[in-house]
Amino acid sequence: MNSRPRDSDGETAERTAARHVLFPAQDMEHFDAPDRALLTRGEGIYVYDSRGRRLIDGPAGMWCTQVGYGRREIADALADQALTLSYNSPWYTVNNPAAELAARIAEVTPGDLNHVFFTTGGSTAVDSALRFTEFYNNMLGRPDKKVILCRMEGYHGSTHLTAACSGRAGNWPYFDVSTERVSFLSAPNIRLSPGASEAEFLESLVSEFEQRVAQLGPHRVAAFLAEPLLASGGVLIPPRHYHRRIKALCEQHDILYISDEVVTAFGRCGYWFASQDVFDFMPDIITFAKGVTSGYVPLGGFAISERILARVTGPRAKGAFFTNGYTYSGHPVSCAAALANMALIEREGLLLHVRTLSPYFQRQLGTLRELPNVADVRGIGLVGCVECGVDAQVPGSPELNQAIARRVDRYCFDLGLIVRPIGSMCVLSPPLIITERQIDDAVSILREALVRAHQDWQRGDIR
Ligand code: PLP
Repeated sequence: MNSRPRDSDGETAERTAARHVLFPAQDMEHFDAPDRALLTRGEGIYVYDSRGRRLIDGPAGMWCTQVGYGRREIADALADQALTLSYNSPWYTVNNPAAELAARIAEVTPGDLNHVFFTTGGSTAVDSALRFTEFYNNMLGRPDKKVILCRMEGYHGSTHLTAACSGRAGNWPYFDVSTERVSFLSAPNIRLSPGASEAEFLESLVSEFEQRVAQLGPHRVAAFLAEPLLASGGVLIPPRHYHRRIKALCEQHDILYISDEVVTAFGRCGYWFASQDVFDFMPDIITFAKGVTSGYVPLGGFAISERILARVTGPRAKGAFFTNGYTYSGHPVSCAAALANMALIEREGLLLHVRTLSPYFQRQLGTLRELPNVADVRGIGLVGCVECGVDAQVPGSPELNQAIARRVDRYCFDLGLIVRPIGSMCVLSPPLIITERQIDDAVSILREALVRAHQDWQRGDIR
């Protein structure tokens, strides 16, 4: 075939992609129609499309481009490592960057989470952590302790098991995922309990957890898997002390707490990891991916507590092997990129920058509340979400609210901002290097897009 995409001919590449690539989140009805912008270049917080348009990367790719695009330090680290040692099998050898990165991550994880298992991304990080809990309970002679507690609206990935643990019910009808091993708790979304105070809402979540464990039997519950804030589920921030209270119950019943920090780690909330520093609790396992390399190359993993490991290692292991892993676990080039990325985050003081800047980001986003088609604005750190409604005075159907969000998204794109529409929500989680002035640019584009979408709705142009 002679239809290779060419940089100089964006249209051709978009059509070629539609003809030959099956994408994640593919619209299967219109699967051969080009529906995605072709991005050709990135610099700082901006990406450029094939028509030469400059766009603020509002979602930081997919919550991952922490230090922004075009960073020479990371490119050099990749190239140097590729020339020095491009690959080694992690099943029987180790490489320098993987060893150094594991030690560096252990320095910045909370408590005794000092051992790191490397994977290829977020789904494989969570999947591996879950496989560890299976191994752990089998080793401890508790073959019935296998149920994973998750939450509605949580998202944990796209492997069979992590998809089964994801509470985005819209995806369920199209796949067969076994729910035998998974039990869903409510999303910590206070808007689902109108009239409840934060403290009352917290008590209801804690008591649901207690009741579920009692119903299932503690001897059957292996793990609680939770994002510190539900990211893809709509930037849902749990009530204060939620994680701490649930963690105490986990300890009481010997249930492992897996904190899925694929989104929140590496600076998104102003700290390397959010579990302890932002949400004030100490998990047994933390999963990470995305921001660990700022999206330059794939990498993920989990960090695990020494105390937990000690129960299934050494003489107690009786010759057992944890035979979970990947050809590319601890890939030397990915680990070299992650080390360069962490060095940049540190050198440029990006954690402090996020802590200093995020109140401004949240305040500016909050100004959009005054618009008639904004139902809610919420966020934490450099994650924010504007939830669209038809009109504050007129309750709209979820479909209509989603159509409005899609229209807002389209206008934003035309005006120079990528937002990530998730249902009726426009989510912003920009690169950590963003400045106040660039936040102003993003928010004013979003404002204009919301105003235009409202006018369209009033004219009957959105149905
Ligand atoms: N966990 C969380 C919290 C995520 O948001 C995601 C992806 O968005 C994943 C896991 C899966 O990561 P990946 O897409 O890298 O496999």
